[in-house]
Amino acid sequence: MIRIGILNLQGDASEHFQISKKALENLKVEYQLLNVRTAEDASQCNGIIISGGESTVIGKLMVENRIKDIILQNKIPIFGTCAGMVLLAKETDYEQPLLELMDMKVKRNAFGRQKDSFEQEIDILGGKYTGVFIRAPAIEKVGEDVQIISKIDDIIIGVKQGKNMALAFHPELTEDTRLHEYFIKEVL
Ligand code: GLN
Repeated sequence: MIRIGILNLQGDASEHFQISKKALENLKVEYQLLNVRTAEDASQCNGIIISGGESTVIGKLMVENRIKDIILQNKIPIFGTCAGMVLLAKETDYEQPLLELMDMKVKRNAFGRQKDSFEQEIDILGGKYTGVFIRAPAIEKVGEDVQIISKIDDIIIGVKQGKNMALAFHPELTEDTRLHEYFIKEVL
């Protein structure tokens, strides 16, 4: 039985819930999909997905609710998209609470404001995907343990470190389940 949690403190958690359900069904595994709102919820998970939203707000709530402590103590693999990617970073260009699980520096809103949102075809791990970018961050610097899995020109937009994965865009806003399946397989 695999237990995947969707952090649901703020942001677009419901889209991740829907697409993760599809991904888990496709993989034909026995699963439980949980909404993570408390440390108790987090402690039951084999992997947690952190959605887009406001990373400052999500980070503060994760500290207050002790979800951050549980993730670090139990070494729970994290898949972060957009604000989720910001939270995985060791460092950003803001003062904000972070998980600091990935050796990278992230610049928030690197592609401009909401009105500058865009969609673009991107390559990740040998496949083509639709990248939906909404006030998206970019990765400015990575340590040697971080694997770069996607770029637009010279800008890093996807990385992995161990079982943690971070993407600057929103696969949950497409119908494509492959990246969710990839993360779930990593934690199986
Ligand atoms: N700019 C937001 C942040 O840094 C992330 C935007 C998003 O998740 N769509 O928190």
